[in-house]
Amino acid sequence: MQPSYLRPTYIEVDQQAIYHNVHEEKKRLNPETALFAVVKADAYGHGLVPVARVCQEAGATGFCVATIDEALALRAAQIAAPILVLGITSPQAAPIAAAQNIALAVGDQDWLTMATPLLKAVPDCPQLKLHFATDTGMGRIGFTDVDALKAAAAFVKASAYLTLEGIFTHFATADEKDTTYFEKQVAKFKVLLNALPERPKYVHVANSATSLWHEACQCNMIRFGVAIYGLNPSGSTLAAPYELQPALSLYSELVFVKQIHVGDSVSYGATYTAKNDEWIGTIPIGYADGWLRRMSGMSVLIKGKRCPIVGRVCMDQVMVRMPEKFAVGEKVTLIGHDEDDEITLQEVADYAQTIHYEIACGLHDRIPRHYLPKRED
Ligand SMILES: *Cc1c(COP(=O)(O)O)cnc(C)c1O
Repeated sequence: MQPSYLRPTYIEVDQQAIYHNVHEEKKRLNPETALFAVVKADAYGHGLVPVARVCQEAGATGFCVATIDEALALRAAQIAAPILVLGITSPQAAPIAAAQNIALAVGDQDWLTMATPLLKAVPDCPQLKLHFATDTGMGRIGFTDVDALKAAAAFVKASAYLTLEGIFTHFATADEKDTTYFEKQVAKFKVLLNALPERPKYVHVANSATSLWHEACQCNMIRFGVAIYGLNPSGSTLAAPYELQPALSLYSELVFVKQIHVGDSVSYGATYTAKNDEWIGTIPIGYADGWLRRMSGMSVLIKGKRCPIVGRVCMDQVMVRMPEKFAVGEKVTLIGHDEDDEITLQEVADYAQTIHYEIACGLHDRIPRHYLPKRED
């Protein structure tokens, strides 16, 4: 969708907060442990390339993305660091991954068999870097079986077109208090890892939650995602070992202000009816921006005051009830600080009965992103 630059609705991304979060994590890691910044889904809605650059400044040595297209966007921005695509890539894209030095996750022999002739067909094709995904309990992608993993490793070892750069797994419950299932996954991963005749360059199991709360498991690379953005992977369940600073704020402005009277209704379905004389403000954001319909009833901040959204959220606009007449052009904070109050992504997610990950990456690219510069050290 076309970004709406001239509408007064925008996301502000604080690059200093991103720097802080990555830098604090780097300080806790062994010097040999590589931090790959997970910047999939447009860096969880924060903006792929600007976030990637700050992460590099803060000590990230590589990147993880979900799709080959996201990896190619990093390369197009002249980012030369190692990149791993975490999801399954079509074998048809293997030659372009090899040409662009992008590593791919692979979870079965069939993929290797399909990709090989395609790589062979390209004159002087560089070796394609692979990370073996192992499924130790996430139930998503990867080898589960020792013999299949060994056979695939032997196939890669014998191949002129492929090279094994890493092996990894992904935990289903690293953000929970109860570690029973987590420990089971660790044990399974050890069995699979030990079945390989040699360790590849990168052995990695840790997402943000694992790195924050399970130090024993870091291997020699972490896939650091949501915590980059200052969001606690557990929501409110576990405390982070250092202060995570949220990077994203969402602002708009009042574009229309009016007084309504007893019995007057607001928005589709006329589900909200005024019980008194009330001041109503209109804000140019709606569900087409990722401000979900179920945000009806949630508050925004205007001049430090909480103003509830009344009536249904429309595609492009919402109405709020204000304690007094505020002027057209007044700043509206949907996520972030205003005077002494703050609305966090966590609060928004709780209200919408989801997780902050989903709200952040659901904020549509119709909303422009503005970047607050990183301060000098
Ligand atoms: C998304 C993802 C991550 C990052 O997870 P966070 O919880 O955001 O840290 C790590 N590894 C894999 C395989 C992923 O898909």
